[in-house]
Amino acid sequence: MSNDTDILKELAALIPGDQFSTQSDQLAVAAEDESTLPGVTPLAVVWALSTNEIADIVKLCYKTGTPITTRGAGSALEGSTIPCDNGIVLDVSRMTNIIDYWPNDLQVRVQPGIIYDDLNLYLKNDGLFFPPSPGGSGDIATIGGMVSTNASGIYSVKYGGTREYVLELEIVTGTGEIIKLGNRAIKRSSGYNLVDLISGSEGTLAVITSVTIKLAGLPEGRYQDAFVFNDEISASKAVSEMCRYGLDIAAIEFLDRAVIRALNQLKGYGLKETPSLFLEFHGPREVLDSNAELSQEICTEQGGLRLTLPDNQNPWDIRHWATEAIKHSRPGYTILRNDVAFPISCLPEMVAYCHQVADEKKITMHTFGHVGLGLLHALMLARRDNEDEWQQACEINNMIIQKTLELGGTISGEHGIGLGHKDLFELEHGSAVELMKKIKQQFDPKNILNPGKIFDL
Ligand SMILES: Cc1cc2nc3c(=O)[nH]c(=O)nc-3n(C[C@H](O)[C@H](O)[C@H](O)COP(=O)(O)OP(=O)(O)OC[C@H]3O[C@@H](n4cnc5c(N)ncnc54)[C@H](O)[C@@H]3O)c2cc1C
Repeated sequence: MSNDTDILKELAALIPGDQFSTQSDQLAVAAEDESTLPGVTPLAVVWALSTNEIADIVKLCYKTGTPITTRGAGSALEGSTIPCDNGIVLDVSRMTNIIDYWPNDLQVRVQPGIIYDDLNLYLKNDGLFFPPSPGGSGDIATIGGMVSTNASGIYSVKYGGTREYVLELEIVTGTGEIIKLGNRAIKRSSGYNLVDLISGSEGTLAVITSVTIKLAGLPEGRYQDAFVFNDEISASKAVSEMCRYGLDIAAIEFLDRAVIRALNQLKGYGLKETPSLFLEFHGPREVLDSNAELSQEICTEQGGLRLTLPDNQNPWDIRHWATEAIKHSRPGYTILRNDVAFPISCLPEMVAYCHQVADEKKITMHTFGHVGLGLLHALMLARRDNEDEWQQACEINNMIIQKTLELGGTISGEHGIGLGHKDLFELEHGSAVELMKKIKQQFDPKNILNPGKIFDL
């Protein structure tokens, strides 16, 4: 096996100098993602510009057994973008081209580094959009990163998550082979669905070098609303009732009073510090009117009151800052997070459980999220240097996950497993994990693609 210096020399010879760096400031950026997990400094960062370059880099790493962590924007929240010891970071954020565009088919093919909001800006003129809209990271998240984490967002309750939109992928496997998966047909029953397999695989099976996605038409009309409630359980009951009634909701976000408090603190919104729901409906006027009426009825039944946002603020601009606000609300405290998902009728029970266990252990809890999907973020704040407090928060996190699994849910509804939830992965998937490991070996026989993420081989 080559040593680290040999690998760096070979890499430097393979690509132009401005696409390769071992400078400490650039390694420091590539060492971390947006999780609170400790970073790992890579040997080098390589900015690829084409599929062929990626194939050459992977072939070299295959020969030398060098780990590769592919990076889009690095906005992942569970450590899936943190590099491996003695590994390199393959940064695709400069691959931002729109390769092909078929507005009449509502489809586009892009390089993996294009940013979500930039793509939607491009599509807007034709009245089209790519809906999944990650709440707080649409302005940074890349399409490749979204596919690799199967990201979802505020509009996923109506339109679905990223996976539902991916038609075709070009990938480079762990041996450096370039393979095309899928096709542009919307309906297909032809063989194993490898496109879906790559979606959510967190860079462990292949490097995605192009993505063909289907698009949706921008809605004819929109109606936004907001309600405040006396308590968290009433707000979450209103959500599960709206879903039970089959209301055609485009977006429904729940923010508990601790999140609203943090938002006021960071941005000075002056919102009433009480549990709130932000809603949006899409469609023609009459559909909007009937949805508005029924949602108000359901919220009123749960004691909800309509909230007029100050200065006609857009609810999604406020929602955008939720994670950031929590992060800054208590200096010296670190976030411990999860993104559990479960059948929608369990939402009130889950919200109650999160607050009950946190109150018992005197840990600050924040619950919020794209709740119409049965998805809840339960973020805790604890001091890492206070061993007892940190332990308690970790214990609560595990209890929330255990409870989710008992209710038939999943550890991760949108952020993935990465390093953060690796220990609990087998609890959810049991013997299926062995099958996943065999699949990984087929794509990546030397285990060089983001090794140690999701599970250990
Ligand atoms: C404030 C904030 C709010 C957020 N809100 C949401 C939300 O509402 N919904 C949501 O789903 N997520 C959310 N996220 C998480 C994150 O933004 C998403 O997971 C996003 O999809 C990651 O995109 P990225 O380009 O940053 O990927 P990265 O962090 O760079 O990578 C994520 C994973 O994908 C792999 N990867 C990246 N590109 C490729 C590629 N081309 N080929 C193969 N593997 C690749 C990486 O190795 C890593 O495992 C939020 C994050 C922040 C910081």
